[in-house]
Amino acid sequence: MKTRKSKRPNPYLADMPGSRWRDIGGLMHGRLTAIEPLGVKTPGPNGQHLWLCRCECGQLKQVAIGDWGRIKSCGCLLMEGPPVTHGMSETRIFWRWSNMLQRCANPKHKAYPRYGGRGIKVCERWLTFENFYADMGDPPGPDAELDREDNDLGYNPDNVRWLPKAEHMQKTHADRRARKAREPS
Ligand SMILES: [Zn+2]
Repeated sequence: MKTRKSKRPNPYLADMPGSRWRDIGGLMHGRLTAIEPLGVKTPGPNGQHLWLCRCECGQLKQVAIGDWGRIKSCGCLLMEGPPVTHGMSETRIFWRWSNMLQRCANPKHKAYPRYGGRGIKVCERWLTFENFYADMGDPPGPDAELDREDNDLGYNPDNVRWLPKAEHMQKTHADRRARKAREPS
C-alpha cells in the first residue's frame, strides 16, 4: 500500500470549516498532555476540534480546542481528596471510542478506506465520549468488538452492539465478500 506524504499539517480536518485549527499535539498544560486530534468537532455550527488528552492521573480526556489552556486536569484537580479513577475498563473503552472516530474521520488511519472512505460516520451524540459510554457500557468481555449490525450504516445506538471478536471477524469477512461480489473492481 502506498502512503503519500501530505504537505498540509491537518489534512483530514481540511474539510471541517468553521473551527480554527491549532496543532497542540505534545503540548502540556497543568496535568494534561495533548495526544492527538480526534478528527471531529463538537456539535453545532461553531463546533470546535476535539483533542485526545491524557491527564497525569492516567485518565484520558477529550478537550475542545477552545478549552485548551483553561482546563488543567481531567477533573481530578477539582475533586476533594485523592483522584477518582474510572478504572481500566473505562480507559480501554475510551481507546475503542477514539479508534472508532479515527477510522471514520482520519484518512491517515489504516482502516479509513473501509470506514470514513465509504461514508461510515459516527452519529453526533457519540462525538462525546460520555454519551457513547452511557449507551454502550462496558464491553461484555476483553475480546468484544464494536459491531455494526448493518455494515453499510454508521455508528449509532441503533446499529451498534458488542460482539465477541470471533463472531465479529466472521461477520466482517462475510460482509466484505458480499460487497466484493456486488462491486467487482
Ligand atoms: Zn486527572
